[in-house]
Amino acid sequence: MKKWFLAFAASICFLTGCASARRGAVCFTFDDYHGPNWLKAMPLFEKYDAHATFFVVGKITPEKAEVMKKLKAAGHTVGLHSLHHRDVIPFIHKHGEAKYIEEEIKPQLEACRKYGLEIRSFAYPNNRRDEAGDRMLSPYFDHFRAGRGPAGKTLYYPLKELPEKCYLGGTGIGTYYKTDLAVLKKELDHAAATGSLVVYFSHNIAPGARAGRIGMPTEWLDELLAHARKLDLHIIGFDELNDLKTNRTSARK
Ligand SMILES: [Zn+2]
Repeated sequence: MKKWFLAFAASICFLTGCASARRGAVCFTFDDYHGPNWLKAMPLFEKYDAHATFFVVGKITPEKAEVMKKLKAAGHTVGLHSLHHRDVIPFIHKHGEAKYIEEEIKPQLEACRKYGLEIRSFAYPNNRRDEAGDRMLSPYFDHFRAGRGPAGKTLYYPLKELPEKCYLGGTGIGTYYKTDLAVLKKELDHAAATGSLVVYFSHNIAPGARAGRIGMPTEWLDELLAHARKLDLHIIGFDELNDLKTNRTSARK
């Protein structure tokens, strides 16, 4: 191929941010709190130019706020996961929405504000959600992560139709969820082929069995990030989903 053509193609790619060249996206999300191990995984994400989303549970202590700031500074998304990990649906059925917001949402949000942490995402405790929950949370967050729902099938979200505020159902990764890496790689292939977003959730990140039954072994993460990168998927945090949409719109113009 002629050199001038390659230079031309490269300049077009530069001008459009290559957004249109990428065909899908994956969000790896991590719940609860494993701050020190999450920070240890930062170089691995960096190796693949990848970002993830970390949903923090419990009181936002000064130590947690420091970790959250470091995660954000590395380009990752930090979201919240409630103060006491109480299930949304049974709680609001019994005590009402206002009490859930007062006891589970506002204390975390206010602490984050105090530490200068902007938060736009939430993960439902125990993945239990419904539409009433989404409505209740929508004044506070853009994206709400839960599980795959009763059908238990991995969900795909066409990037072209992704609303600015929405619930995103994720598939669990860990031995407890009977993860099969070959299946996950096929799911990433499908996301790439269909221009869709696929979402995963896990908890801890550590080598081998040290990740725990509901955690992501570092080796798996390495393999999945490598596969996603090979497919040229966007590997992004929730906060970048709307930016992706903006880029796509401007690339089309
Ligand atoms: Zn949790």
